[in-house]
Amino acid sequence: MAIATVNPATGETLKTFQPHTADEVESIVAAAHATYAELAATTFAERAAWMRAAADLLDAELDEVASLVSTEMGKTIGTARYEVAKSARGMRWYADHAEQYLADEHPVEPGDVGASTVSVRYQPIGTVLAVMPWNYPFWQVIRFAAPALMAGNTGILKHASSVPQSALYLGSLFARGGFPAGAFQTLLLEGGAVAPLLDDPRIRAVTLTGSVGAGSSVAEAAGRNIKKSVLELGGTDVFVVMPSADVAAAAAAGVNARVQNSGQSCIAAKRYYVHEDVYGAFEEAFVAGMAAQKAGDPFDESSSFGPLATEQGRRDAHALVEDALAKGATALVGGEIPDGPGWFYPATVLTGVTPEMRIYREECFGPVACLYPVASAEEAVERSNDSDFGLSSSVWTTDDSEAELFQNGIDAGGVFVNGLTASFPQLPFGGVKDSGYGRELSALGIREFTNIKTVWRA
Ligand code: NDP
Repeated sequence: MAIATVNPATGETLKTFQPHTADEVESIVAAAHATYAELAATTFAERAAWMRAAADLLDAELDEVASLVSTEMGKTIGTARYEVAKSARGMRWYADHAEQYLADEHPVEPGDVGASTVSVRYQPIGTVLAVMPWNYPFWQVIRFAAPALMAGNTGILKHASSVPQSALYLGSLFARGGFPAGAFQTLLLEGGAVAPLLDDPRIRAVTLTGSVGAGSSVAEAAGRNIKKSVLELGGTDVFVVMPSADVAAAAAAGVNARVQNSGQSCIAAKRYYVHEDVYGAFEEAFVAGMAAQKAGDPFDESSSFGPLATEQGRRDAHALVEDALAKGATALVGGEIPDGPGWFYPATVLTGVTPEMRIYREECFGPVACLYPVASAEEAVERSNDSDFGLSSSVWTTDDSEAELFQNGIDAGGVFVNGLTASFPQLPFGGVKDSGYGRELSALGIREFTNIKTVWRA
């Protein structure tokens, strides 16, 4: 994929970039490696001051940055502003909490292990490569960069080829806040050129957010080189509605869950399992809500959502819909590519989806919901788990025993009861099965890229 800013609302190529040459890659990796020793020797207080200064810059430049995000990947300007503000808050969260998250621990009485003193210490590990996607071009990067830098690691960002200007902004942000120049840099490279970087001994670990294919390729290279990897991949999250739920509230939230970010979110609800007692009422309210969503110009505040980010993304989403329709599914709303420029796709609701259809198992990265009736909470759990993915889930019930059944039984990295799945700096985020491994955010996220050192003294 060419490295370029292409406006998804018009299809116009606004700016193209050359990938970094081999010499440029070498100097970026060398700078990251050399800076590591310097950064690891700084205090939490120094790093926190730089992190807060970088967050202040991001806040001060919020309008300009949000506009760049909307232009590069098509999200509405309101949601772009929200993402940039959330990124600044995430930076401050780690500035405030990294020291506590990485404080020495004393898990046992020294005498129990024959020592006079014993502790567990968290130390940085070196340069970490971050392969990041375009869907939340700031938040996805910040949730890696803020903890990594606060831990004392240096980072190299290989961002998606469709958001190069966001990538370059992020590549200079931390140095502008005061971090040494080599602490966090952007590498302009196409995805296929990433895996060989893992052979370089100066790169100690990798994190990737994106597709299963990209994750698998990067994890394979990391594994061959005995390097730590964290993968945050796709999801086909469920949205379960039981008879005790407030069906109108669930339908409204369900619409939001599916059209947020034009449906291009790993934690967006994609499979809706609705108890048959309330299925009719839910379907009516949900379809009406989806039909009222207006895909439009990301800079028009009245648009519910913008275009899909890339032409290929729209092609992929529509292919899943066409496959389902050809095999007998019904589109209650949407399902057709609109005329006109840009990569818009309508809010779409499918029923009658069966296991023969690709969308039954595959992730659809567009505003397409599949509705299924279920007879019981147990069936909802069973069908939720009939998936290759396990990122998160949203369940709607006011019955405590049902809630516990879902909390315990759904095989995913999260269960949100009567609310939408969201990421919080305070809480771990990640999945199981093909949704990946490892965790981002919270204390667990910052510890992923540390040397967890046992210190034992006789
Ligand atoms: P990709 O996985 O292709 O892109 C994500 C990142 O990985 C980009 O930086 C990309 O670079 C890079 N990449 C791609 N291929 C490789 C590779 N072989 N080795 C190393 N890095 C690679 O996602 P797409 O943009 O193509 O989207 C396809 C699907 O991925 C979506 O439909 C969705 O299912 C899933 N996805 C999930 C996301 C999530 O939030 N979990 C985010 C984005 C996508 P480059 O852009 O240069 O190709």
